[in-house]
Amino acid sequence: MTDIHPQIPALRTLQRQDRRLTSLEKKLGGIPARISGLDSDLHKLEQLLVAERGKLEETRSFQSRQENQLHDEEDQIRNSKAKLGQIKTARELNAQQRELETTRRMVQTRTGEISKLQDAVSKTEQQIAKMEAQLSALRSAAEAEKLRLAAERTYLEENIDKARKLRAKSVQGIEREILANYERIRKRLGGLAFVAAHRERCTACKMMIPHILYMRLLKGREILPCESCGRLLYWSGHFPEDHEKHETLKPKPAEDVVPGVPEF
Ligand SMILES: [Zn+2]
Repeated sequence: MTDIHPQIPALRTLQRQDRRLTSLEKKLGGIPARISGLDSDLHKLEQLLVAERGKLEETRSFQSRQENQLHDEEDQIRNSKAKLGQIKTARELNAQQRELETTRRMVQTRTGEISKLQDAVSKTEQQIAKMEAQLSALRSAAEAEKLRLAAERTYLEENIDKARKLRAKSVQGIEREILANYERIRKRLGGLAFVAAHRERCTACKMMIPHILYMRLLKGREILPCESCGRLLYWSGHFPEDHEKHETLKPKPAEDVVPGVPEF
């Protein structure tokens, strides 16, 4: 460890800081979408409630029109009955009785319909009460979640600030040319630019490293690129922590790995 290129541990530290920084920034960047998701869920339920209340109003107003018509028909029956006593001829009596019968049938049908409308009104009222309870629960949950997200945002912002300061310090210890190379690869390959070579494979692209190149990495005196993905390599064996990590990781087949996507 003592005679390896001093830029190796420096770059490794920078890469670890960048990984953490990217992860923190990604979490922070996801917060607005989570807040608007909460608002959108609330809005959807509010709209459903508005529609349900509209339906209730319509049914109630239809029911009230039916009830008015029923009253009119009942008045009609009373009038017809009163008239029956004053009728002189059998023909007039027949006509009056037929009219009375028709009105009675209408009253019967309408009474049945009003009862069905009343059932529909009760059902919609129950549905509205259920939705109001859901909405109220959702509002409380959303408020609590927003408070939690606000706290998370503060935490992330503070930590991003700290991480950026640490990074600025680390960058000072890295040679300009190596840093420029590192930044270029990081930009091109989505974050990972300095990766371990472990058991003769690049741990980022999982491709085999030619034996001669691997031997040079083992010596730790140079920073060399992976011939497959172009990332800069160091040997995992120089850092027991990295060696352990890659020993315990299950090897993934090369086709499952999307090039350039960092594994956080
Ligand atoms: Zn590679």
